[in-house]
Amino acid sequence: MDSLEGDLKDLLMEHRQALIDRSMDPDRRKDDEPEEFLRHFINLDGYGHFPFTDFELDFRRTVQKWGERKVTENGTILWAAHRSFEALSQAFRNGDSEQILRHASDLSHYVADLHQPLHTTTNYNGQLTAQLGIHFRFEIDLASRYLDQIQFAKMPAADLGGILASLHSMALESFVWVDNILLADRQVVSQLGIEREAFLGDRPRRIYPEPYFEHMFQWLGSPLELRLNQAVHRLNSLWWMAWVKGTQSGH
Ligand SMILES: [Zn+2]
Repeated sequence: MDSLEGDLKDLLMEHRQALIDRSMDPDRRKDDEPEEFLRHFINLDGYGHFPFTDFELDFRRTVQKWGERKVTENGTILWAAHRSFEALSQAFRNGDSEQILRHASDLSHYVADLHQPLHTTTNYNGQLTAQLGIHFRFEIDLASRYLDQIQFAKMPAADLGGILASLHSMALESFVWVDNILLADRQVVSQLGIEREAFLGDRPRRIYPEPYFEHMFQWLGSPLELRLNQAVHRLNSLWWMAWVKGTQSGH
């Protein structure tokens, strides 16, 4: 938000706290709307191997190719984020601040999820490689411990080009970090002799010992910083593009 300018920045800054509060709404909706659960990830590796050339960006075409069940089970975040973008630009066009707030915060959530590598793989929680719990170890435990050491560069909002294509490339970029995260977790656990079985309970969630996170941050501090910076930049850019589309397209 800080690297935006002009009317858009004023408008978003005015609602800053509401945007932050409501950015978690999509997670809260999961209980009431079963389809919402599917809007937070895309299992790219459900479509073959990198770079997944058999995957179609167009929802209908990919459904024709892979079947509706497979496509929905593999997660619909790309199309959900795209819809939020379109709805946001429509809300800007109508000057409807409630709808602006709603879709700007939804978009922020989906863009953040798209930058988390473990939202792009079938093995999202390490369940296929005996690394259960990696999702929250990386996303919550590691990130929260080191957030104040992350440097955020101020990058001006940019035109990202086609929306769906740029959302897809965010997912692809995420995917290439998956193996790094899994490898770091494997190596650190074996190096420190951590007994995974002792940490399996999730009520309450059992947190790995502190040295685990220190080592993980050495491995993954750079990609963590990169993905967080990219997420912020892409979100600012998409907000700005939606605003331009909604207010200056002459409709
Ligand atoms: Zn989410």
